[in-house]
Amino acid sequence: MPTQKRVDRRTHSGKSVQPTQRVNESRGGNADTQIYRRKRWRDFRISVLRDEPFCRECAKIGKQIIAKELDHIIPVKKEGEMYDRDNVQPLCSSCHSRKSRSDRS
Ligand SMILES: [Zn+2]
Repeated sequence: MPTQKRVDRRTHSGKSVQPTQRVNESRGGNADTQIYRRKRWRDFRISVLRDEPFCRECAKIGKQIIAKELDHIIPVKKEGEMYDRDNVQPLCSSCHSRKSRSDRS
């Protein structure tokens, strides 16, 4: 078996080939997750969380938990307003996943 000569000092790996990132986009993908990737949503989310940084559900029971998620009170799927501050509430991850589960059922 011939030993391959190792090419020293040549960093071929320096230029890593980036996989094309449009796999999901071109397929239309999951509309649900698509909208949350929009810049407008990210900006909106950040500005709401800046004004109200704590989880609203946890606040009800007197806990101050930093909110990580912005939840739609009326889900967008059910014609809730995506960018209406009155229709969103900051939630921590655990409250958010609990709510998402109950929204679905
Ligand atoms: Zn919470």
